Amino acid sequence: MKTIGNIARLPLWQQRELFLDWVDRAECASIRVDPAIFYPPNRKGAPGFDRINAAKKICHMCTVSEQCLAVALKQDEQYGIWGGLTASERRRLP
Ligand code: SF4
Repeated sequence: MKTIGNIARLPLWQQRELFLDWVDRAECASIRVDPAIFYPPNRKGAPGFDRINAAKKICHMCTVSEQCLAVALKQDEQYGIWGGLTASERRRLP
């Protein structure tokens, strides 16, 4: 179960380059977890914060979080938690 965004829109060579060397080491791919927690509702409220916190705990244990974040930044991902950061947190990066 891969939860790392929509890679299908990328050219195949780029999918291989960006993902295949590290994606199988992703914490979110190695444990039983609902992928929806990485895409919390786009509204304020406890359910969203609960999902964000649950996803961040998993990302915190992940050994490939730097690669995950790099891909999100490279793709300009507008949704989801990648590398332990929400979309709004990624937008605030220098
Ligand atoms: S940093 Fe989080 S979303 Fe990215 S691969 Fe690791 S567990 Fe999955």
